[in-house]
Amino acid sequence: AAENGIVWTKGVCRFCGTGCGLSVGVKDGRVVATKGDPDAPVNRGLNCIKGYFNAKILYGKDRLTKPLLRKTNGKYDKNGKFEAVSWEEALDVMADKFLQTYKAKGPTAVAILGSGQYTIPEAYAASKLVKAGWRSNNLDPNARLCMASAVVGFYQVFGIDEPANNYSDIEKCNTMVLWGNNMAEAHPVLWSRVADRKLTHAATKIINVTTYKNMSSNLADTTIIFKPNTDLAILNYILREIVNRGAVEQDFVNKHCIFATGNVDIGYGMRPTDKFAFPAEKDVQKKQNEIVLDKWEAIAQGRKEGQVVKQVQQGGKAGGHWSITFEEFKKGLEPYTLDFVAELSKGDPDESMEDFKKKLVALADTYIDKANDILSFWCMGANQHQRGVWVNEQIYAVHLLLAKHARPGNGAFSLTGQPSACGSAREVGTFCHRLPSDLLVAAKPARVKSEKIWGIPEKTINPKVGRAFMEILRGMEDDSVNFVWTQVVNPFQAAPNSNHWLKAARHPNNFIVVADAYPTYSCRYADLILPAAMIFEKWGLYGNAERRTQGWQQMATPPGEARTDLWMMMEFAKRIKLKDVWGEQSVPGLKVEGYEDGKLPSVLDEAQKMGYTPETTLYEVLYARKSNTNVAWPDPAFVCKINSTAAPSKLNWFPEKALFSEYRQFTLGDGHDLADFDTYLNSKTRGLMWPVVNGKETPYRFNQDFDPYVKEGGYAFYGKLFKAIPTGNLWGITDPKPVPLPNKAKIFYRPYAAPVEQPDANYDLWLCTGRILEHWHTGSMTMRVPELYRAQPNAFVYMNPDDAAKRGLKNGDVATVESRRGKINAIVQTNQRNFMPKGSSWLAFFDEKVQTNQVVIDATDPISEEPDFKKSAVKIYKA
Ligand code: SF4
Repeated sequence: AAENGIVWTKGVCRFCGTGCGLSVGVKDGRVVATKGDPDAPVNRGLNCIKGYFNAKILYGKDRLTKPLLRKTNGKYDKNGKFEAVSWEEALDVMADKFLQTYKAKGPTAVAILGSGQYTIPEAYAASKLVKAGWRSNNLDPNARLCMASAVVGFYQVFGIDEPANNYSDIEKCNTMVLWGNNMAEAHPVLWSRVADRKLTHAATKIINVTTYKNMSSNLADTTIIFKPNTDLAILNYILREIVNRGAVEQDFVNKHCIFATGNVDIGYGMRPTDKFAFPAEKDVQKKQNEIVLDKWEAIAQGRKEGQVVKQVQQGGKAGGHWSITFEEFKKGLEPYTLDFVAELSKGDPDESMEDFKKKLVALADTYIDKANDILSFWCMGANQHQRGVWVNEQIYAVHLLLAKHARPGNGAFSLTGQPSACGSAREVGTFCHRLPSDLLVAAKPARVKSEKIWGIPEKTINPKVGRAFMEILRGMEDDSVNFVWTQVVNPFQAAPNSNHWLKAARHPNNFIVVADAYPTYSCRYADLILPAAMIFEKWGLYGNAERRTQGWQQMATPPGEARTDLWMMMEFAKRIKLKDVWGEQSVPGLKVEGYEDGKLPSVLDEAQKMGYTPETTLYEVLYARKSNTNVAWPDPAFVCKINSTAAPSKLNWFPEKALFSEYRQFTLGDGHDLADFDTYLNSKTRGLMWPVVNGKETPYRFNQDFDPYVKEGGYAFYGKLFKAIPTGNLWGITDPKPVPLPNKAKIFYRPYAAPVEQPDANYDLWLCTGRILEHWHTGSMTMRVPELYRAQPNAFVYMNPDDAAKRGLKNGDVATVESRRGKINAIVQTNQRNFMPKGSSWLAFFDEKVQTNQVVIDATDPISEEPDFKKSAVKIYKA
């Protein structure tokens, strides 16, 4: 309806994984206001401080409006100055540089760094471009930096990604436990629902399990401060209590679960190369190469102190597991006594051991109490962790042993950071190991299905898993990746140990394309900058953390010559011909049955049988072919001309819709069913939780009362990724005979392991990093909103007051934070927002003035390849 000439249209907030619905006010082709959508089930009319400013992010003074290319004397020059160029010139130079790299080194030397802030059609278009067009799998989103550990945890436990429960459980449970999730700042509207439940339902308890006292502690009944990385030991303590007190729900576990373990000596996911910005990095590398068990690890793993253990790099692959018996699982938990775990994990030196132990016992009691309906939430604290996958798995293990999962008011619920980490990073397949709808690049049937839907020859898709986010950056450094295109991401500020990647980006062999709406920090390191359209300047859909897919229509026109990322990909694809990319290609390290070692075969002959020629462009194959609906695809320029007030049903066919409709075919009948584009865009719908079967959403998966895929037995964990695993025992496979896994979830044994870098005499403080309420990620949008900038213009380094005083520091002083990787300056805060225990410090990463990630370690969980932003060792002194 129109009010004062303002037309209000439904939209979605782009500032966190909560997925709040917005009412977006448009006047004269401009978005003039946003407010919480009262009909949205997620937020019921509320927004947080960021959500209310969705309109203002579109109109910062320095929006990019023209492509900018580094030039000298009218020609591209790596060392030249940025000059405005036409789209024609920008795309021509880009295609030239791409082809130059591709011809010299093949598909593994080109890459796209994508985003959990892509719209679903954009993400799907990127997936097609890289996986089908370029025959590379080097596409990885920034979601790798925030929830890849959750993805692998889901795969390994359930064989299928994403949560079983939904947000309405907040109003159905009695207790919420936060594991590394400062929800008050990271998911503010969800937190307001938690607060509402707590204040209107006297029995509700909140337990905040964290490494420092944060804003969520203000509402929590208990804050349990643990030493960084020891949450895994605390979870093993709870599991031990469940087992030893006879609290296991045997009937549920026997019917629906299997006990398992896998490679336990997995290392730390650091670089195998020897390139160091600072000599001190070598100390850490040494630990990575040679894991010598310290006292705590030795006890936790039932081994000897000082023992050297074999390192196994799983490299992002699910699997490598074997089943164990319940007795073996129980034996594995034996070391995790209250005394051992309390001594290992107590994180606040000022708290008494007795008080800390009482809290651990009460936490176990709370889970075990049959009458207690309980939700566990977690986010970056659990995922950005050198054992992030295992922490995810052990939270599921607690809930599965107690049969408190996938039921109203009971469940283990992994939250996401980005608005479409689920919809656009996970579901669409923009991870380097994935294809749409949970399909895996490494599985032949998955490739065949994708090739069929995409209308491309068999064997077009490269069977070798691509490079994950950090591996793409490391590839720039070791000269194995030379063309990188970043989309909806600011990697040179957002990625850890960034001094390396800043230098690598400027190496003459590398060509870096940054597509963004604003001149971000990453733009400084680009060779070509492409001006991008923002959220309400394009049609889109997002998928939030509760599996809810929501759509919106284009409401405003992008400024100047800014274009959608989708348009850029399509125009780029017009410049690449099949003969450039679909001939025989060299793929170092490819070793897959049915392929010559190191070679991808030519598919040009097969392509010709399908009616293409070597001169056919990727645009024609990927984006302009007649879709399976037999409706022709129009010129993409059409997208930018749509009248913002037109009803979706009145519109013609257009690329976003065509791409979504094709993508939907992957999902139907395989447990991820999506509704059609028009349903999501309909002004009356407020998103639907997949699978959507016969027009109905699914509030709880795996549970027969709600999930149409579960036909009998009450529950079915119907993951399709594993059919059988070998049997063995905790200390090595003894019987490789496979055990079938029909519809069962895995409960894992996962031992505690120390982080690769810990405070020592030289770097004596922990540093944890994260987000704050007022700003989104690297601040490239929210720092341009005057109200948000004024609310929090600086990233502070939070310290314990005593630690600060010992260093001659007080509130407001500028301090240097130095690690093995670099040093930065930040203003000290000792008593606001975050209250750090002695020995720990904390920094946000939103402030371009404070390049926090220059000091952060780039060790990853070696299974998920997600970096650990929460545990670096630093020293802090007066600047
Ligand atoms: Fe909702 Fe998150 Fe947006 Fe805030 S930032 S309005 S909590 S989606």
